Amino acid sequence: MTTPVRDLPLLLLGHGSDPASERGVDCPGDLPPASDPGLVERARAAKAALGDQVFVLGHHYQRDEVIQFADVTGDSFKLAREAAARPEAPYVVFCGVHFMAESADILTADHQRVVLPDLGAGCSMADMATFDQVEECWEALEDAGIAGDVVPVTYMNSSADIKGFVGRHGGVVCTSSNAKRALDWAYAKGSKVLFLPDQHLGRNTAVLEMGLGLDDCVVYNPHRPDGGLSGRELRDARMILWRGHCSVHGRFSKESVDEVRARVPGVNVLVHPECKHEVVLAADQVGSTEYIIKALDAAPAGSAWAIGTELNLVRRLAGAHPDKNVMFLDKAVCFCSTMNRIDLPHLVWSLESLVRGEVVNQIEVEPETARHARAALDQMLALP
Ligand code: SF4
Repeated sequence: MTTPVRDLPLLLLGHGSDPASERGVDCPGDLPPASDPGLVERARAAKAALGDQVFVLGHHYQRDEVIQFADVTGDSFKLAREAAARPEAPYVVFCGVHFMAESADILTADHQRVVLPDLGAGCSMADMATFDQVEECWEALEDAGIAGDVVPVTYMNSSADIKGFVGRHGGVVCTSSNAKRALDWAYAKGSKVLFLPDQHLGRNTAVLEMGLGLDDCVVYNPHRPDGGLSGRELRDARMILWRGHCSVHGRFSKESVDEVRARVPGVNVLVHPECKHEVVLAADQVGSTEYIIKALDAAPAGSAWAIGTELNLVRRLAGAHPDKNVMFLDKAVCFCSTMNRIDLPHLVWSLESLVRGEVVNQIEVEPETARHARAALDQMLALP
């Protein structure tokens, strides 16, 4: 019998290291205890006291205890745009991860201050491409004599430094819903693309939507000299994929698709494009989180859906559609551990600090980086 996804125990997916300690982030020590029964009431009271002064954004992968306080929910790009569309709110509390709060800071007005309730909420995928590594990669492309032909494209899930690099080199940011349009634009401008940092979104879009072959793609490994690629391999490639991936979506396998099909006849398998190529090939549909939400809204009662994306969202979809059989596409259940760092105690602490006039955990992108990153983001907004 299938266990309803909403009843599964909460397990966290480890990323092999503690992002908070890597960033040198210490807990400030005055957080309310997680077991405090008054936390919900305290969050409500702080938000009411702040009124229009604060705008709370909640990413789809956030915990239920946090998302209930979001003024708007969405994917990273929708949330950054929502923040930019609220210049009257001086404080933007971003319940998501670090790169999202950076994008919000870049897109919001100068007087708006963006707060990330826990600075340890990073993203393992974004951390897989550092500025120095990408600079080294560009030097390898120059040595191979192809840098002038390459247009860099970075996924929204990258640091402001990487977006700034891409903006400086005439490239564009993309999301999982506009990756094809971004690649259309890039290939009209140059014959090759450097796609950062998610190899799976890059490969899935190039092969399944752009008609490129798998042999048109090479993978640049930042931990090997020249990315582990010869000059000839770089010159022959049309798509140079960065060796990065999402620690959550990368866990889904073709075996999990086969297993759910055998267990639930007629099930629709719907996965996110951050999943591996063979998983996307085996699925019935592929799409961004917003696509997944709309597909479930439009699905007929009684239909069965195995969803390959983050579990907080899948659990909420299961709760919102009791007339459909919505399940998680894997036996080993996992949440995004960094997304889950934003919990009610951190949200209460950041809101109550704002009530006292104290801005904690403000995310600020250095102005020169922000200027170039903004160019790459604006280029995305201008895509046809
Ligand atoms: S789900 Fe994946 S891409 Fe999203 S924040 Fe977590 S690790 Fe990063």
